[in-house]
Amino acid sequence: MSSQDSPIPFMFSAQGPLAQTLDNYRQRQQQLDMALAIEQAIKTNEVLVVEAGTGTGKTFAYLVPALLSGGKVIISTGTKTLQDQLFHRDIPAVRDALKVPVQVAMLKGRANYVCHFHVERASRDGRFSNRDDALYLQSIKQFLDSSKTGDKAELSSVPESATIWPLVTSTKDNCLGQECQHYKDCFVVAARKRAMESDVVVVNHHLFFADVALRDEGVAELLPAANSVIFDEAHQLPEIAGLFFGKDVSTSQLMELARDSEMAFVTVAKDCVQIQENAKLLEKSLRDFRLVFSFEGARMPVQKALALPRFEESFTAMQQALADLANILESQAARDPVLENCWQRALGLQQMMRDWKQVDEAEFVRWVEVYTQAVQLHATPLSVADSVASQIKRKVGAWIFTSATLAVKQDFSHYLQQMGLDQAKTALWNSPFNYQEQGVLYVPEGMPDPNNPIYSSEVAARALPVIQASQGRCFVLCTSLRAMREIYALLKEAFEQQGLEYPLLVQGESSRSELLERFRQLGNAVLVGSQSFWEGVDVRGEALSCVIIDKLPFSPPDDPVLAARIEQLNAQGKNAFMEYQLPYSVITLKQGAGRLIRDEHDRGVLMICDPRLISKSYGKRIWQSLPSFKRTRQLAEVQQFFSAQPAKV
Ligand code: SF4
Repeated sequence: MSSQDSPIPFMFSAQGPLAQTLDNYRQRQQQLDMALAIEQAIKTNEVLVVEAGTGTGKTFAYLVPALLSGGKVIISTGTKTLQDQLFHRDIPAVRDALKVPVQVAMLKGRANYVCHFHVERASRDGRFSNRDDALYLQSIKQFLDSSKTGDKAELSSVPESATIWPLVTSTKDNCLGQECQHYKDCFVVAARKRAMESDVVVVNHHLFFADVALRDEGVAELLPAANSVIFDEAHQLPEIAGLFFGKDVSTSQLMELARDSEMAFVTVAKDCVQIQENAKLLEKSLRDFRLVFSFEGARMPVQKALALPRFEESFTAMQQALADLANILESQAARDPVLENCWQRALGLQQMMRDWKQVDEAEFVRWVEVYTQAVQLHATPLSVADSVASQIKRKVGAWIFTSATLAVKQDFSHYLQQMGLDQAKTALWNSPFNYQEQGVLYVPEGMPDPNNPIYSSEVAARALPVIQASQGRCFVLCTSLRAMREIYALLKEAFEQQGLEYPLLVQGESSRSELLERFRQLGNAVLVGSQSFWEGVDVRGEALSCVIIDKLPFSPPDDPVLAARIEQLNAQGKNAFMEYQLPYSVITLKQGAGRLIRDEHDRGVLMICDPRLISKSYGKRIWQSLPSFKRTRQLAEVQQFFSAQPAKV
């Protein structure tokens, strides 16, 4: 079909429905071209990978053809916030403009829906870790009776971080399914039913891969009926898919089983004291296993864990205690669905522990993560390519992957290889912004090597005159929490000494959304942050006019998964740095840099302090992948840029 037969050009035209109904609608050739490519991909069941630079309007470019397609569409996005934004704002806007009668549903992971069974159980049990939880439970019970969806996001009086939530929501493990007496009223079941009946379903990547990999209902059930699957923020997929195609098991899952078994003993099997005894023995073995590690917060390769005294012995003891509990649960399972559920979980966990031990080390990297109370045993696939490719093969339809950051210097091969999308079509639309006019890339001269102990203090010293020139209005993005704290402290001291009154904010002092709100309102603030501000942050206009990046964002080399991937690539005769680490860094840097210019009126300076951008041969590949800002190494040019158009503060 040629574009003349397509309704898409009219929809995006100056006389079309989008222009008629949306405030500030602007025609953009890139947006129209992208929408046509997606329309074509949907019609011909293609796999299409699209990079759309900031300002292309990619959300509407996929929503319009998706809503007009007439088939079932699953749209998956990076976070629950973006999911809410699509469901509550963008999709209704497009649907109303196009006047298409599509039914839309949002599906979240089951941990987002209050569970009748667990609320009842928590009320009966009455064991809370703090006083707030007892109060929160009252609000949750009222919410349970009045809410139509059971989505905990609607209950703002109970904070997301409250410790009550795991007690009043379900997991795949502890849901009783059709055996549950509340099945008819269950919010999870209702949300899935709505999703099945809808034309467009909005999910998030974690849910998508969790359901597909764990074969939970939900997305796995929806997929066969879907004609198209669209992933927005698709650059996040390789990492998220790795989490779910792995073979992980946590001692917290075993602890939960032990506690649920004890609860089952109290409520439905009082005469079988052996359940309680075996559950307690399992709990003890889990505590002993945690004590094998004398520290927390560590991520270590399995070899290091295996070398610890008592690791093997404690692991075996844990397996034995689990087997003993499984045996007694089996003998009682027929008495009640709760006991049956505990028995099935015990069997599943036994299998998971065996899988973790016996995993094929040529394909998976085993590693261990230690928390205050629990230990997580991971087996992460070295590549998700085969798993993703087999999903796509299994499901005929269009698969569309889009993001502002997928390619490295117009080259998609890194992403395609990682995701097993060798046969995919690719397309790239650059941002419509005039980056040469709107921005400057500043790399200061004379910076020390990034490993030099004085590096962070040099970053702070060089950042200071830039912050003054931009009159605050600045993000300082750091590659590690340590550097973030150091640079924050140095800037704070310098602000005090020089009497600078720009409000200085730091990641962690309040929630991310609160910090961003304050940053926007203050208008002249400086925000020092790490990982969580590198992407998904949208501050338009004057409040953000400068982004300072301390170092090129290479993954930490002591990360066990990265180390194993590097080793594997090098063993295959490939150059792991060029093929893996560098593309990762470029994509992360593009995300960080993308915070600066959010619309055609934004202006700003991107300062990258890392001298390797200039001194190393790969540096060119990096800056050529960034927006085509005017480049300079002179502070005076930065000062001139800002003085040519001073802040309106
Ligand atoms: S079916 Fe599962 S999620 Fe639904 S109420 Fe019962 S236990 Fe909770």
